[in-house]
Amino acid sequence: MIRFEHVFKRYPERGEALSDVSFEMNVGEMAFLTGHSGAGKSTLLRLLGLLERPTRGQVVVHGRNLASLPRGQIPFHRRQVGMIFQDYRLLPDRSVFDNVALPLVVAGLPHKDIGRRVRAALDQVGLLKRERATPSALSGGEQQRVGIARAVVARPPVLLADEPTGNLDPDLSREIFELFERFHAVGVTLLIATHDLSLVRSMSHRTFTLHDGRLVKDSGGH
Ligand code: ADP
Ligand code: ADP
Repeated sequence: MIRFEHVFKRYPERGEALSDVSFEMNVGEMAFLTGHSGAGKSTLLRLLGLLERPTRGQVVVHGRNLASLPRGQIPFHRRQVGMIFQDYRLLPDRSVFDNVALPLVVAGLPHKDIGRRVRAALDQVGLLKRERATPSALSGGEQQRVGIARAVVARPPVLLADEPTGNLDPDLSREIFELFERFHAVGVTLLIATHDLSLVRSMSHRTFTLHDGRLVKDSGGH
């Protein structure tokens, strides 16, 4: 369901961020993406989330080639792919509820469905009781769980996370990874960029390694 075919991404001022990257992921697979800082992990995720387009090659998600997806279908694609960031990217002056509701509001869902879906998502991340709080009242781990609730609230089949535990201590990081495993268990496809090799090793999932924009290793989990 996710396929990269000879993908290149070149930034005019920086040269190639991705060079000839090819791989496939199946529906429901959970995989990690590792590599040094600047290796191209964020770039790869941004191509999948359609925040950017490849310079060359094909990125195919659910049989759609993102490189030639008509502009009008971009919002539909974005709803199929939930994204989670290292710095959470929450709206600081809005409540937890409003932050999580945002993708559904943008999608134009009826008001009554929004409340039900937001509470289901907050329940999944264990934050049902904090819906009225603003992000600044929450710990880092809680803020990331709000970020995850926002990413899953529209029930996307694919979740992408870019260094989701980069600002969290080891215990909180493990909790976040356990949350990802629960989405994996219900059939969500996950690709998680991380530096946290000890967590990666403890979890036995497929692991992709990028080095200077090239996919240098693809070790199967089991
Ligand atoms: P990683 O996530 O592995 O740290 P990135 O994908 O962020 O790597 O970066 C890969 C390379 O592309 C780096 O050399 C980086 O400087 C460059 N790069 C990333 N984003 C941009 C951008 N928007 N404009 C120019 N260069 C970029
Ligand atoms: P409904 O819309 O039928 O009320 P919920 O939103 O309460 O359903 O979610 C039901 C369950 O579906 C969740 O608890 C979760 O385990 C599962 N689920 C399936 N796909 C996803 C997804 N992409 N993101 C989050 N949960 C999902």
